[in-house]
Amino acid sequence: MGTNYLPKELVKLIESLSKLPGIGNSTASRLALHLMKKPSDLSLEIAKSLVEARKKVKTCPTCNIFIFDEKCGCLDSEKEGEVLCIVENAVDVISIENSGEYEGQFHVLQGLLSISQGISPQDLKIDKLITRVKEKKFKEIILATDPTSDGEFTAQFIYEKIKDLCPLITRIAIGVPIGSEVNYIDKNTLAKSLIDRRKID
Ligand SMILES: [Zn+2]
Repeated sequence: MGTNYLPKELVKLIESLSKLPGIGNSTASRLALHLMKKPSDLSLEIAKSLVEARKKVKTCPTCNIFIFDEKCGCLDSEKEGEVLCIVENAVDVISIENSGEYEGQFHVLQGLLSISQGISPQDLKIDKLITRVKEKKFKEIILATDPTSDGEFTAQFIYEKIKDLCPLITRIAIGVPIGSEVNYIDKNTLAKSLIDRRKID
């Protein structure tokens, strides 16, 4: 990157932003310059939220969802007979909640099983998921991993492990474009893929 015309502080900011997923050098530059043009309130607000969130947000050891305090809703023993939706990452939780077609618990795998990338059931702590399914009597479990080959492989693997532990196990509809990722699917398509989910048997 040419640094002749930019102050080194700005170059540093662009470099930091470009380390974020999906943000290349040009987007990072655009964001940094945008922030410099706006009143400084916005930069301060972003900086403050980032520090606060990083300090206070934790990951629930049971469901792997981000939480603000020690006790997560998934630990509520009163809740039985709920639906559980298994997803790859926390962004999928937001996408599925935004689709407006789901009310229930989530389990975030924090990845997908992958032979090519050497990601094993131990890496995703699948045993922890199985223990959760055994303890809570879910009335339905939705496998909402991406319709990619790793996503299908992961869904199939989990299905084999839990098929005797829940009366109804479903998979999001194939109508979802093959090879796409859950968090990139538009809201309406995702809502439809949840409505059209099919029983695995
Ligand atoms: Zn939890």
